[in-house]
Amino acid sequence: MKPGLRSQTQPTHPSRPVVWKGVIHHYARYLPVSKSTPVITLQEGNTPLIRVSNFVEACGGEFELWLKCEAMNPTCSFKDRGMTVAVSKAVEKHAKVVICASTGNTSASAAAYAARAKIRCVVLLPHGKIALGKLAQALMYGATTVAIDGNFDEALRIVRELGETGLVEVVNSVNPVRIEGQKTAAFEICDHLGRAPDFHFLPVGNAGNITAYWKGYTEYFSDKETSSLPRMFGYQASGAAPIVEGRPIDKPETVASAIRIGNPASWEGAAKALKESNGHIDKVTDAEILAAYQLLARAEGLFVEPASAAALAGIIQCTKQNLIPKGSLVAATMTGHGLKDPDNAIKTAGVEPVVVPAQREAVLKVIGV
Ligand SMILES: *Cc1c(COP(=O)(O)O)cnc(C)c1O
Repeated sequence: MKPGLRSQTQPTHPSRPVVWKGVIHHYARYLPVSKSTPVITLQEGNTPLIRVSNFVEACGGEFELWLKCEAMNPTCSFKDRGMTVAVSKAVEKHAKVVICASTGNTSASAAAYAARAKIRCVVLLPHGKIALGKLAQALMYGATTVAIDGNFDEALRIVRELGETGLVEVVNSVNPVRIEGQKTAAFEICDHLGRAPDFHFLPVGNAGNITAYWKGYTEYFSDKETSSLPRMFGYQASGAAPIVEGRPIDKPETVASAIRIGNPASWEGAAKALKESNGHIDKVTDAEILAAYQLLARAEGLFVEPASAAALAGIIQCTKQNLIPKGSLVAATMTGHGLKDPDNAIKTAGVEPVVVPAQREAVLKVIGV
């Protein structure tokens, strides 16, 4: 069962552009949709897979690293892949209101797809803990935005309770159709590389994405081909590492707000992915996350958000420990866009614009040539 992206999108004539119509249109056969499902899409998916040799060289590795750049989705994170399915299914069920708890990206995505579907969206955010760009998105897309005096885990508890009333449709990744949509990223990677990578690195928050990728990889290959599956390597921030520590964390803390989660909803899915893939889960410090974040931007011109850089910090950690054999094919998910979190970017860059008079000489002096 190979979704076969290549065969379906290869232009039959070079001058005819390929039209990408989103993950439901492209992968309907593999998703929980039928002919009667209204497709709510912003043409998410089909994101670039970019090889980053400068980064690998800078961290002293001897493997091939490809980044799945999920920031290129419509709301600039991978959440759109699951959200197109979740909101489409909600509309199919005639839901009038979708609701989610979010560290930011789920709310941005839910709000956008709800706007597209002409239904209401309510988002619960931990007060004061949301990256600026993500808050701007929820507000602009018109979601009813509620900031709770508590953390993500508490917001999710309230959302689950509200979901049980039947009045609202929950579009967090506790809704299994989200995972179904998100697995399409693994399909695209296999289509692009012509095989699965040897390793797949990604950040882990609620653990929906690691669950989804593993589901995608295992569905892509038949049972006989388990040897071709990647080892899943997940990374949590050291102040928010419940799976690594083996217990929920009451007050998770990290600069990477998208993975500031103390009690992952898809813990079991992550455990399954790690066990079945002979994978590995570990933690990285905020300092390691920010160093990888800046290194990627400077070495490759790719600006991701801090949570995405947790996967990169994991790659650096594994390189130091010699865990990635020479010549390996490695993939990593860059989950969200750097522009979502301008505060952390400006702090991390650690430099300010040089202010000079509006004179050629003054500018030349700064250039120093
Ligand atoms: C949601 C999110 C994550 C974490 O994904 P989970 O499925 O919750 O593990 C990581 N990075 C970004 C940018 C996210 O938006």
